[in-house]
Amino acid sequence: DPRISKISSAIRVIPNFPKPGIMFQDITTLLLDTKAFRDTIDLFVERYRGKDISVVAGIEARGFIFGPPIALAIGAKFVPMRKPNKLPGEVISEEYSLEYGTDKMEMHVGAVQAGERALIIDDLIATGGTLCAAIRLLERVGVHVVECACVIELPELKGRERLGDKPLFVLVSST
Ligand code: 5GP
Repeated sequence: DPRISKISSAIRVIPNFPKPGIMFQDITTLLLDTKAFRDTIDLFVERYRGKDISVVAGIEARGFIFGPPIALAIGAKFVPMRKPNKLPGEVISEEYSLEYGTDKMEMHVGAVQAGERALIIDDLIATGGTLCAAIRLLERVGVHVVECACVIELPELKGRERLGDKPLFVLVSST
């Protein structure tokens, strides 16, 4: 798709952020390019429209940028998956491991119902730990996770393998 190369070149890479040795993929420059931003949303919408998806679950923080326009366009609700102690209502939570230590992801009780079909959105998959936690959270309450979708994949970190047989769709692979 000719739109992909424009999206790829609109993503800025910032070396040594947030710490030395990390090549940070910065999607804020993609948001400044109105054509590339729209094409990003359109590519996801084209893939998921008509797939009977009732939930778009977006992962904090950058899943909150891409998730809602996709949800509106496919007629699904948007459910935020947040860092701990941010959501005001009753939550269920799922711990996951980071390079150092652990983190937690939370979702409001009652936001989704058993039997619903969900798409999970984030900006980027690295090790896949974050997406795995989101999958577990939704599956614990009986939701079927149809697919995970990200703008960027870092294939060297093998996040796709960590997701097992859960499908992953990405627009850009970054080496
Ligand atoms: P994982 O759990 O797959 O190792 O890491 C993915 C999470 O870390 C995502 O929520 C993503 O937003 C964030 N992340 C890790 N590295 C980068 C990066 O280079 N750029 C951006 N935008 N996010 C990153």
